[in-house]
Order: sequence, then C-alpha cells, then structure tokens
Amino acid sequence: RNLSVSYRTIYGKLNVLDNVDLDIDRGEIVGIVGESGSGKSTLGQAITRLLPPSAVVNGSIQIDGKDLLSLSEGEVTKYRGTSVFMVLQNPFTSLNPVKTVGYQLLEAARIKMERSGEKWNEDKGYEMSINALKDLRFPDPDVIMRKYPHQLSGGQIQRVVLAMSLILKPKVLIADEPTSALDVTIQAQVVNLFKELNKKLDISILFITHDISLAYVISSRLVVLYAGRIMEDGDVESVIREPSHPYTQKLIAGVP
Ligand code: ATP
Ligand code: MG
Repeated sequence: RNLSVSYRTIYGKLNVLDNVDLDIDRGEIVGIVGESGSGKSTLGQAITRLLPPSAVVNGSIQIDGKDLLSLSEGEVTKYRGTSVFMVLQNPFTSLNPVKTVGYQLLEAARIKMERSGEKWNEDKGYEMSINALKDLRFPDPDVIMRKYPHQLSGGQIQRVVLAMSLILKPKVLIADEPTSALDVTIQAQVVNLFKELNKKLDISILFITHDISLAYVISSRLVVLYAGRIMEDGDVESVIREPSHPYTQKLIAGVP
C-alpha cells in the first residue's frame, strides 16, 4: 500500500518507487515487467525486506495480514525463506561462497522441515535436495552437491538457487529474471516447473522480467512498471490487447 522507496546516494535522494499499490492473491502468478531501472528488483527486495540500508521505505507491505515493515530483524529472518523467498537477479548473492551446494541445499531443507514442525532428518533432507536438483535438470545431482559456487557456471548457479526455492516452497515466491542465464529449452522447462508448483501448492509467484513474451507465457496477470509507478495492472490478455500507457504499447509493438 502506498509503497515508496528511495535510495540515499552521494548525489542525493533517488526516488525509485512512487506510491505503488499492489494486491496479490494466493495462487496468482503476476508478471512484473518494465524497462531497466524502472524499479522491479527494488519492489521484490522491498517485499522480502532485502533492501540495502541506504533505502528509505514508506507505506506498508502486508503478507497474510502481517505488517512486514514493523517486524524486527529477528522476526524477518523467520519469515524469509518459507513465507517469502526471492530468487535474486544476481543468484551468486544468494549463495555462500565458502560452503558447498549440498551444504546450502541441506540447510534449506532443514529450515523447511523445522518450520513445518517436522524433526530434522538428514536422509530426507538429502533426498529433497537431490530431487530439487533433478527437477532443475541436473543430470548428475550428487556431483553438483559437492561443488562450491565458484565451480559452477552462471546458468548452473541460477538453477541451484531455483532448486532451493523448490525445497523451501514459500507462500510467495519472487523470481527476479530467474531464467536470464538459461538456454531456451531449459528456460521452457523451468517455466513449466513453476506453473506446476503454483498449481499444485497454490504458491503465489511474482515473476520479474524485462521479457514481455516470457511474462505472457507464465503469468495470469501483468503489471507494468514505468519509472517506479504502476502503469498497467490487469489480466495478461487484456493488457496486451489494450495497453493504456504509451510505454506498454511500445513494449508490445517490439515483440516479434
Ligand atoms: P533492471 O531491469 O536493470 O534489473 P530494475 O527495474 O530491476 O532494472 P532496480 O534495480 O530496482 O531496477 O533499480 C531502480 C533504480 O534504483 C535504478 O535507477 C538504480 O540505479 C537505482 N538503485 C538500485 N539499487 C540501488 C542502490 N542500492 N543504491 C542506489 N541506487 C540504487
Ligand atoms: Mg532488476
């Protein structure tokens, strides 16, 4: 509600989001599109409370009626991961460089099990991790489990973080350009995987992308951000058929 975000910079204050109002229902897939610098990542980071200290946030963000901005850092830690998880635009920043992939996936599995009231069981955690890696089309999941992040390619890193989201199964998943480093066939498989996850578990997904064709394939609803404001918000078909803002018209005209 009325969400505004600005950054304090050495050049002064930079306003990035301007009075954003957005309601997301359980089980919705919302595509967020907009040009570079329009504030897409800032919006996702605000919802996960991952903005840097230089950010000034006004307004309110609620999930299940809980006001996020009033939570303490400790409370936010409990809420992140299983209530809301963000696949960051730079997936390297989601991983610990000095821990193996396996260690980090097992950690996600432990968090998931403990928060679901289950007792930690390492064998089950291992199985969850291997299955998630298989879902992300790793042919050799146990080899990947033993690697450190710097030993993986950009696309592999992206898929490891997506595997983490499959283990955590958050209520709200925010994916920031999650398929940008993947080749087209894997991209299509990942998109289907998320659609499946959304259908089976009623997970709400905010799919951030600059690619309107991709947003069209995955989302039921489309939000267009322009210079920190919401320019369009509606059912994907109608936004594409009758875009009200000149920027969206340009965006759609550019699709082959
Ligand atoms: P892209 O498509 O390139 O990822 P975006 O829509 O995700 O762009 P943001 O990353 O949200 O855009 O950035 C919005 C604006 O805020 C940009 O002008 C950017 O330079 C600025 N910005 C982002 N992060 C910071 C920061 N930590 N400090 C200062 N300015 C920032
Ligand atoms: Mg971004």
